[in-house]
Amino acid sequence: MAEPTIERSVTFADLGLRPEIADALAELGYEEPTPIQAAAIPVLISGKDMLGQAATGTGKTAAFALPILQRLAEGNRGKEPVAMVLVPTRELAMQVSEALHKYGRKLGVRVVPVYGGQPIGRQLRSLEVGVDVVVATPGRAIDHLKRRSLNLRSLEVMVLDEADEMLDMGFAEDLEAIFAETPTERQTVLFSATLPKRIDAIARKHLQNPERIRIVDEVKTDDEHQRVRHSAYIVQRSHKAAALGRILDVESPAAVLVFCRTREAVDSLTETMNGRGYRSEALHGGMSQDQRDRVMTRLRNGTADLLVATDVAARGLDIDHLSHVINFDVPSSVDTYVHRMGRVGRAGREGVAITLAEPREHRMLKTIEQVTKKKITVEKLPTVADLRARRLDVTGAALRESILQEDLDGFRVVVESLAEEFDLMEIALAAVKLAHSAIGGPDDDQDIPDATAPSFNGPSRDRDRGDRGRDRDRGDRGDRGDRPRRPQGASSGNTRLFVGLGRESGLRPQDLVGAIAGETSLSGRDVGSIEISGRFSLVDVPEGAADEVIRALRETKIRGRKVTVRREKF
Ligand code: AMP
Repeated sequence: MAEPTIERSVTFADLGLRPEIADALAELGYEEPTPIQAAAIPVLISGKDMLGQAATGTGKTAAFALPILQRLAEGNRGKEPVAMVLVPTRELAMQVSEALHKYGRKLGVRVVPVYGGQPIGRQLRSLEVGVDVVVATPGRAIDHLKRRSLNLRSLEVMVLDEADEMLDMGFAEDLEAIFAETPTERQTVLFSATLPKRIDAIARKHLQNPERIRIVDEVKTDDEHQRVRHSAYIVQRSHKAAALGRILDVESPAAVLVFCRTREAVDSLTETMNGRGYRSEALHGGMSQDQRDRVMTRLRNGTADLLVATDVAARGLDIDHLSHVINFDVPSSVDTYVHRMGRVGRAGREGVAITLAEPREHRMLKTIEQVTKKKITVEKLPTVADLRARRLDVTGAALRESILQEDLDGFRVVVESLAEEFDLMEIALAAVKLAHSAIGGPDDDQDIPDATAPSFNGPSRDRDRGDRGRDRDRGDRGDRGDRPRRPQGASSGNTRLFVGLGRESGLRPQDLVGAIAGETSLSGRDVGSIEISGRFSLVDVPEGAADEVIRALRETKIRGRKVTVRREKF
């Protein structure tokens, strides 16, 4: 296993972005530009028109948003907007505005999203105050133009995002009407996942000598990786961590590398998965060489099951026993997918590449399939019933092994005495029940909603001026899904401890796991079920280590507080 070293690649500053913008991106945990950003940003900064083919998930929003911010940082700003971004749906309007806010935090940029379904009064007030960038759905933009609450005479940049979808939704005429209100001397940028003839027609009419950018690379997937199984699960963002846990339980991988896009995502997933009982380690470009070496040692000696990494950090990393690569987020280009999956299935071994995609990212999966010519099977997440069935299989297999070992004579007396009172079948059932609960397993008792249908079958074509068409499909962000498990009673071999701190003090499962793993000889994996109530929590730890854990937790602080810790009395 080689030590990971961070290779230098193209940076945001190399693309000509101002330091305050590059700094904001570094703070967000972006380690390097995605391919579409590396190609588009210099072109857009130079002021040229551009026609870009890129789907959701490629980082296209930042590709057009960053040059707009750069222009705003350098130019004059008045009451009227300098840039306008047209998008097909209300959800996308909100996401693009958020992105502009996030990237332009240090520049104090005024961004107003304008979409149907929101009371027009609020939009009128924001526009009246003055605005730098308007992000609008075509229908509502037309409404504002008619009311004269929006004036495009100072417009310098016009962006059409997801242009093919806007046409699919019947916005062609509205787009023409909006273009008619803009100065001819403007920069025009068109992003589209597909380039049908109608898009070409718009480009010919409204773009001047556009630079064409297409990041659907000709990638070579060599035969060495023929034995890789490719699958994907369509999951809402808020359920991804739970889904990952479920997949790991069913796949039982030897060693897993999980890829996330940003440093923040790596850190937060590592924490969440530790809280869920998977021993996870983070690896990203913000860590020192020392920290990275320690992670690799823990992976090598088996004290970690899961390595969560960014692409940059995982470069130059060579783990030979890797069986699974999991894309927690869809990769930003086909090339990235191929690189990631190249880490499994080496030397003819079997490997698995799994992608967790949000419903809106289905097109990226299709592109990867087309370019790599590998079938990606969209699978259904294992249900609670599947997990239970699998756990029963494990118990059955353990019993079969025990029978074959023929060392059961010592227990004959128990069976014989019970047989005087009960049927043999009943005795066997009770024994299996005890064995099953002793073997244990993850206590995950809620099904994860299936996000596959109907959105994976392609976008809805509803023409909807209110832009409600596909809003439900667009992933919600935020909640990392770290729901505590709910045990019924300490499983055998474990002792249940009472900890006098609960949800009301902001306690999360990972705080308890972190405190125990940090202060005692136990690792996160040894910590059993955790139940967090309003004012207190219950946590299962191995019987033999209970006193050590009580002592250690009494001496330390959890979330900055000294807490009561004792054996839970029943
Ligand atoms: P988009 O394709 O614009 O919808 O972006 C997909 C996701 O990638 C968004 O969540 C962005 O925040 C994220 N993203 C965009 N650019 C980068 C980057 N250079 N590094 C890491 N994440 C990024």
